[in-house]
Amino acid sequence: MTGLAALTDDWLRGVAAAGFVPGVRARARAALHDLLEEFVAAVRAEPFDPAPGTRIGAELVDLRMSAPPVIGTTVHLFAGRLPALLGDDSRGRILELLDRLVTGFVAAQRDAAVRAAEEMNRSEKIHWRAVQLDLQRQLQQAVLHRPDTGLPNEQHLRKTLADLGEGRLGLMLLRVDRYDELTEALGHDRGARLLTAVARRLRPLGLLAHLADDLFAVLVTGTSGPDDVLKVADQATRVLAPPFPIDGHRLHVTATAGLVERPAAGVDPGSWLHDARLALGWAPESFTLSGPARPEGFAVFDPDRAEAERRRHRLAADMPSALERGEFLLHYQPLVRLADRAVIGVEALARWRRPGDAGLLGPGHFIQLAERTGLIRPLGRRLLEDACRWGAARPDLLISVNLSPVQLREAGLVGDVADILHRTGLPAARLQLEITETAESLRYRSELAALGALGVRLALDDFGTGYSSLAVLTALPFTEAKLAAEFLLGAGRRGVLRHIIDACHALGMTVTAEGIETAEQESILRDLGCDHGQGFHLGRPTPYS
Ligand code: C2E
Ligand code: MG
Ligand code: MG
Repeated sequence: MTGLAALTDDWLRGVAAAGFVPGVRARARAALHDLLEEFVAAVRAEPFDPAPGTRIGAELVDLRMSAPPVIGTTVHLFAGRLPALLGDDSRGRILELLDRLVTGFVAAQRDAAVRAAEEMNRSEKIHWRAVQLDLQRQLQQAVLHRPDTGLPNEQHLRKTLADLGEGRLGLMLLRVDRYDELTEALGHDRGARLLTAVARRLRPLGLLAHLADDLFAVLVTGTSGPDDVLKVADQATRVLAPPFPIDGHRLHVTATAGLVERPAAGVDPGSWLHDARLALGWAPESFTLSGPARPEGFAVFDPDRAEAERRRHRLAADMPSALERGEFLLHYQPLVRLADRAVIGVEALARWRRPGDAGLLGPGHFIQLAERTGLIRPLGRRLLEDACRWGAARPDLLISVNLSPVQLREAGLVGDVADILHRTGLPAARLQLEITETAESLRYRSELAALGALGVRLALDDFGTGYSSLAVLTALPFTEAKLAAEFLLGAGRRGVLRHIIDACHALGMTVTAEGIETAEQESILRDLGCDHGQGFHLGRPTPYS
């Protein structure tokens, strides 16, 4: 792995800079490389066992690399770089191994010192003890602190979190916005000085740790609720607002923060950091170059949201194989002509039958995910084909299928539709495609025109939810408007509703009212001249297999 070779080189350089590489450089490099490989193997081993860390630490001392800066460099490099090489979820293992490595290093160092002391006389021994104590202190400093700001590092923070088992705690992770761009523009040296200045301003807010270049953590003990840590975030915004004078530049710095606040008992350090990182990911960026930070640049950890996100990730990951296994199916809801209550068609509505889940998942749980992961195209194609095949066997029905705007954006949609009609034998005139009324979907004029040219009907779904004006509609080839249920509510809107229905008719469109739940709504809509209706009162979505 080239990453490991580069890391070995940097490790050797770090160790050599401390002046502790004995013997031939090539041999030292080979030895370090072996140790690094052992370390990586231990991270990956199943089941995980941190014991090899102790031996690796001892071997560093055996290789005569026993000065505190050696261990500092090692911890700094491994903790900083290995998660990126081995995957971020290996961070916990890496830190545990480093813990053992430090213990092994210290023990081996002490043994070596005892051996040396046995060979000395008494006065030398006293001197040696003092040297030892000083070394221990330096070692602590090197292992648990960042070399650049001298602040406690992630290792240190985890230890502190592990020791705080009572009361409530608040943790704020704070990322300096666009630090990479700043250092790119100003150079590393000024970037580092900026970090030191940021650290100085943050220090009064709580126990401050420095986890990565642009990432700080503030630990607040004895909180009584989320408000206490929100206050700290507020203070952080305030202390960072005045510009930082560096070499004649006045730098404006803003930050983004993720906050967690809860009882300390029973929560391991890894979860604190994991959850704070998650919240940090939720925080909207607050960066502004010239003005003060906007206060909304932080987010508080919310276990329900985290669980919902985990569930969404699981669903997204399951979706491709679910599609292969045929877990997606359609329910059909009747479209009824209001004049005589005849069923003139059906709308196909997607469902997901997941093994292990009770019941079916509705489209609200997976259509958006499929849009985001790109699975909507194969899924949409499959569902369209199922619906067309189902409809081809029922000659009197119109088959109405929903299309996502993402599908409209995909090249090849029109070809897919033509192909499916051809293969299933459903006449184009019996297929209706429903496109939800959004600003985005109405942008695809030429795609809509090409679909219309195939001879399929086009329905504007959820019409009235607010994007299009009637003027826009005249330019688009819609044959039908489906009015959103919201429109049916409230007697005061009846006049508006009549106008909309009349206008749609004037534009040559038929009108379907969705979400009819009562006999009263049905009769009002019939009186207003609405052509078709759909809703629980007229028929629920059913499998009809
Ligand atoms: P939509 O196209 O507006 O579909 C109508 C939704 O209203 C359906 O929800 C239906 O079950 C529900 N509904 C029907 N009658 C009533 C009623 O009387 N009262 C109430 N409260 N609701 C009623 P569903 O099946 O959960 O679908 C939700 C949305 O998901 C659909 O809204 C559509 O936009 C989307 N969708 C469904 N299937 C597909 C699909 O195959 N592809 C794509 N891209 N989107 C789909
Ligand atoms: Mg629809
Ligand atoms: Mg609708």
